[in-house]
Amino acid sequence: MRVARAISNLIEAFERLPGMGPKSAARLTYYLLHVPQVELDRFAEAIGNLKRGTKECSVCHNISEADPCDVCADESRDKGIICVVEQPLDVLAIERGNGYRGVYHVLHGVIDPLHNIGPEEIKLNELLARLRQGSGEVKEIILALNPNMEGESTCMYIAKALKAQPTALKITRLAHGLPMGADIEYADDQTLTHAMEGRREY
Ligand SMILES: [Zn+2]
Repeated sequence: MRVARAISNLIEAFERLPGMGPKSAARLTYYLLHVPQVELDRFAEAIGNLKRGTKECSVCHNISEADPCDVCADESRDKGIICVVEQPLDVLAIERGNGYRGVYHVLHGVIDPLHNIGPEEIKLNELLARLRQGSGEVKEIILALNPNMEGESTCMYIAKALKAQPTALKITRLAHGLPMGADIEYADDQTLTHAMEGRREY
C-alpha cells in the first residue's frame, strides 16, 4: 500500500525535528488528520510567522520582537553586569527568577569540537566586541553555561579570552545548587536564584 504523499511529506518534516523518531512522527501526523482544517491552518500560519515575527537583538543576541530587545532597552537594567548564556531559553529561565537586574549575552551554542562547533560558531567575538565598545562600562561577566563538559570547557575558553582584554573584569560562574550535568533551562526558579546569588569568582 502506498502512503499518500501529503502524509509522508509531513512525517518526513516531523522526523527532522530534534528528539523525534519515525514512530512518533507518524503518530503525530495521523493524529493531525483528526484536527479541524481551520486549526491546522492556524498552526501552519504560526510556524510560518515564527521567524518573520522575531528579531535577534543586535546587542545581546537574544530573540525578541524588537531590536534592541526589552532587556537591553530597559534603562533600569545594570549594563555593567553581563550574564552569558547558551540559548534564549536560559534567559527566560533566569528572568523567571525575577532577581537579576543585569543584562545578557546569548552565545547560541557552546564550543563542541565533536560536533565541529568552534569558538567562531558561537557569539563569542560579538561579546568581546561588545566589551570593547562598552569602553570599561562592563564590570562583571557571569558565566551561566550549563554545568556539563561542553559548558565547562566553553567557560574556560571565554575566561581566557576575557582575561586577555585590556580592561579589568570580574568573572564569575554560577555553581551553587546546580548539579553537574543539569540544564539551566529546566532548573527551578529558587535553585537559579540561589545559583545567581552564590556565584563565585572564576
Ligand atoms: Zn538585547
